[in-house]
Amino acid sequence: MSEVLVLAEHTDGGEVKKVTVELLTAARRLGEPSVVWAGPGAEAGRERLAEFGAQQVYVADSADFADYVVAPAAELLARLVADKAPAAVLVAGTTEGKEIAGRLAVKTGSGVLTDATGVTAGPDGAPLAEQPNFGGALTVTSRVTAGTPIIAVRPNAISPEPSPGAAELVPVEFAASEAARAARVTEHVVAAKGERPDLTEAQIVVSGGRGTGSADGFKIIEQLADALGAAVGASRAVTDAGWYPHQFQVGQTGKTVSPQLYMAVGISGAIQHRAGMQTSKTIVAINKDPEAPIFEIADLGVVGDLFTVLPQLLEEIGKHKSL
Ligand SMILES: Cc1cc2nc3c(=O)[nH]c(=O)nc-3n(C[C@H](O)[C@H](O)[C@H](O)COP(=O)(O)OP(=O)(O)OC[C@H]3O[C@@H](n4cnc5c(N)ncnc54)[C@H](O)[C@@H]3O)c2cc1C
Repeated sequence: MSEVLVLAEHTDGGEVKKVTVELLTAARRLGEPSVVWAGPGAEAGRERLAEFGAQQVYVADSADFADYVVAPAAELLARLVADKAPAAVLVAGTTEGKEIAGRLAVKTGSGVLTDATGVTAGPDGAPLAEQPNFGGALTVTSRVTAGTPIIAVRPNAISPEPSPGAAELVPVEFAASEAARAARVTEHVVAAKGERPDLTEAQIVVSGGRGTGSADGFKIIEQLADALGAAVGASRAVTDAGWYPHQFQVGQTGKTVSPQLYMAVGISGAIQHRAGMQTSKTIVAINKDPEAPIFEIADLGVVGDLFTVLPQLLEEIGKHKSL
């Protein structure tokens, strides 16, 4: 069976991010998954990788991955592509993952498909990727016609399914070239992380729009998110107005999310916003305008003033929690 390389997203402590097990699930549809682990922590992450079918784990425990931006990871993958001739390379469709995918494509003369929401093997065994286009209005199935298929898969798009693998750790000697060391990381600032889940990985996202009226009004979105154990998202109108930080913007020029439940509160549903959330499994919209375009894609719509609807919803959630 052909080998499929999966670039692991993980913390230095070896915590395997959920998107990595999603990638492993997708890789098993194409062949035998091998993980590429850049940086420290592979020992700690091994058990989880084995649970999702990794056969080999290529471990390049080099400080270069932390000291320089994405170029070393692309270089490591390019080397493994040359050595192993895999059937495909899967990376997470995160900002960093997509940049690595692009660089790897150039290095290996391969085609790259980004924002994949589904991965399957075609009739001839070649990888096919499903990609939403035009803000999710159209889904296309694409294949790479040159080199090694490189596919960046959108986090949360594929349900992880366990299947045991050996996850044998295979050390790989690696030192980044001078060219890959062109951009050095000069400082690491750990983002203040609250109790909330990461926006792109969360099972539930509660997003607020201009309908919240102000930074103060937006606080009710945080309240609802916390009651549901959800991540907070925002429309661009909100982030541009400075009511909430830009890193929480959902949409074409913000984050792409695909949670089990997406709640759009006081958001009109402009095409650029929809581009970042349309593949969510269930969409609930709360808007006082019954004509708001968000209702076209909502599974459940509530027409009403958010400042009337949300307090009632919070009260109901509170009742259920106290049962
Ligand atoms: C190149 C480009 C890229 C863009 N990228 C993005 C992007 O990544 N993400 C993004 O979100 N946008 C993006 N935009 C902007 C996008 O076009 C919209 O302007 C934006 O999404 C609107 O945000 P909104 O829905 O919060 O505000 P509005 O469109 O103003 O909608 C506010 C909604 O709240 C409702 N409302 C008002 N008060 C209440 C209330 N009390 N209770 C309930 N409902 C209420 C209104 O009925 C209305 O539907 C982009 C635009 C361009 C041109």
